[in-house]
Amino acid sequence: MTTTTPRSLVGADVPAQAPPSTPEPAMTTSETVAALRASLGGRWAHVRERAREEFDADALLPDPSLTLEEQRARVAEQMQMLAASDHARGGFPVSAGGTNDVGASVTAFEMLGHTDLSLLVKAGVHWGLFGGAVTNLGTERHHREYLPRIISLELPGCFAMTETGHGSDVQSIGTTATYDPDTDEFVINTPDVASRKDYIGGAARDARMAVVFAQLVTDGADEPQHHGVHGLLVPLRDERGATLLGVTAEDCGPKMGLNGVDNGRLSFDHVRVPRTSLLNRYGDVDERGTYTSPIDNPNRRFFTMLGTLVRGRISVAGGAGAATRTALAIALRYAERRTQFAAPGSDAEVTLLDYRTHQRRLLPALATSYALAYAQNDLVAMMHDVQTAEKVDEVAQRELEALAAGVKVLATWHATRTIQECREACGGAGYLAENRLPALKADTDVFTTFEGDNTVLLQLVAKGLLTSYRDAFGDLTSFGTMRFVARQVAATVAERTSARTLAMRLVDAAPRRRDDEVDLLDRPVQLRLLADREQHVLEGLARRMRAAARPGADPFDVFNGAQDHVLEAARAHVERVVAESFVAAVERCTEPGAKALLAQLCTLHVLHGIERDRAWYIEHGRLTPARSKSVTGLVNAACEQLRPHAAQLVDGFGIPDSWLGAPIAVRPCPPSPP
Ligand SMILES: Cc1cc2nc3c(=O)[nH]c(=O)nc-3n(C[C@H](O)[C@H](O)[C@H](O)COP(=O)(O)OP(=O)(O)OC[C@H]3O[C@@H](n4cnc5c(N)ncnc54)[C@H](O)[C@@H]3O)c2cc1C
Repeated sequence: MTTTTPRSLVGADVPAQAPPSTPEPAMTTSETVAALRASLGGRWAHVRERAREEFDADALLPDPSLTLEEQRARVAEQMQMLAASDHARGGFPVSAGGTNDVGASVTAFEMLGHTDLSLLVKAGVHWGLFGGAVTNLGTERHHREYLPRIISLELPGCFAMTETGHGSDVQSIGTTATYDPDTDEFVINTPDVASRKDYIGGAARDARMAVVFAQLVTDGADEPQHHGVHGLLVPLRDERGATLLGVTAEDCGPKMGLNGVDNGRLSFDHVRVPRTSLLNRYGDVDERGTYTSPIDNPNRRFFTMLGTLVRGRISVAGGAGAATRTALAIALRYAERRTQFAAPGSDAEVTLLDYRTHQRRLLPALATSYALAYAQNDLVAMMHDVQTAEKVDEVAQRELEALAAGVKVLATWHATRTIQECREACGGAGYLAENRLPALKADTDVFTTFEGDNTVLLQLVAKGLLTSYRDAFGDLTSFGTMRFVARQVAATVAERTSARTLAMRLVDAAPRRRDDEVDLLDRPVQLRLLADREQHVLEGLARRMRAAARPGADPFDVFNGAQDHVLEAARAHVERVVAESFVAAVERCTEPGAKALLAQLCTLHVLHGIERDRAWYIEHGRLTPARSKSVTGLVNAACEQLRPHAAQLVDGFGIPDSWLGAPIAVRPCPPSPP
């Protein structure tokens, strides 16, 4: 198995020598556009091409005129169409009829993000979460019995983890699965309203089975034994869709978006399932009720189980990226055609994209979309290698989980902000449902919450930075873990900061000059600014954490008091990693026109981030106020230089015209011949 350098998505691909400064792009050609598209296509570019040929816009784009029930019915039909194609098979083992090409499966899923996002989420819940849980938490008997019917959609399922009382804190859920040795069954029970499963995609209408996460309980000599959260397969409905005895399914009703998904609430009144329904890869119960697990530490077991489900998080990041690129394509196409006001003394009205503000609103977001797309491609490749390796590499798995969390956070927040900006950038036209932006906005909004709330996920990323996952499988709020974190921090940070990655060596190669001599267009200088910031924020956090280990200190208070710092450290880290992915992609590109464009775009992405955080760079002596002001000028210049290439950069996304589905997104007329 090939693993990448720790904490870097690109590892060895980072060049030893970066281009000096970004040359101004020449005129773009069709070769350039093709090269951009190939560059963004990544390792599974062929899967993207196949999706472009096969996904039919008429059948798969959302129809805003439908009622809630009609939307659900339409998405159910679309699911059948997807099942008939073999796009879903990649995510499943060969023994169960899959192809075990997990990278292909996540890439195909990402392409669905250009269509109806309800379909994306419904497919993600059934094949990704439900099928993924059976694959990764179950064993041979579950694979044999259920996976073929899951792949074919004969057995529609859902993933019931969240409860009304506990969402982010999954370890505290209240549903119980108690083993009854007399009947060799588990009894699934919802003890109170807070323990009701909530928001569950597919639960209101279509799912016939659920993977239910519950606290596993067995009989002990004197008192019940608690083994923590485990997943069990629980039938919900019969062939005709009627709920089974003891199961109550309620409908969450209309939502802000994603109304083609039937989210619901599930309660179980002492529902009995066979003992073999336990997904028993990480914990099993025998006929006598004896519990065994290959992982003794319950905390570590819990996080190992959750970790196997990382694909869902990576898929959400991919879907968010696709939706954002669709929104940008619509807004930029419109900005190339729409004119408002004429300059004094001129009859010709000004095209929106010729306004500096309009460039500022859309082009940095375009640059960041490229950056995140490269980071996503690297992440998917890393996931594929980790998950298809013959031997489990626990360290690589932890690295993957932390990076997946970080990229998901940046990609989904970027989606939320960018789609809103695109909506506004199209004025009133952006508000009309026919132009898709309202649905894109409403449907992607919750991506920041599901598959892990972004704020909570950033804490997970920071925890990975502060401690080695090898030793620390605790949740951030637990007293013991915090003490552990506090004790470990000094050592791990020292180790981390001395173990330089290849990218860091590139940064080290950057000449250290006085601030007024630094060339901010120099790639190593840009990377050093990001790396310095990451290191500084992390070291500051480590110092604060050390206080938690002092006698008399309350670790919770210390940790809670540093939460803003925790999030900052995680963000600085992931932003550095994403920038490195972009730098590596620029280096890999061989077509001169595309390479120059990507280099300029990469500069815009990095400098725009530095401009946003310039208060930090000034406060910490990394940039003088004068130097910081110059960043604004450089961002403006990059926008101006990229403006003539905006249409080609959008074409580089490779979104077929028919998939945009917005009347305002028609291509600008070619200039009339002189
Ligand atoms: C449309 C939709 C579909 C969904 N589909 C599914 C599904 O199919 N299956 C499933 O199991 N679940 C599903 N979910 C549930 C989803 O995963 C949860 O909503 C999510 O995990 C957040 O949990 P919560 O809603 O309880 O929010 P909470 O955990 O209560 O969080 C609320 C706020 O508190 C903040 N917060 C929480 N803890 C901390 C902390 N330690 N420090 C600082 N801030 C904190 C969060 O940042 C957040 O802003 C779905 C949700 C939605 C809305």
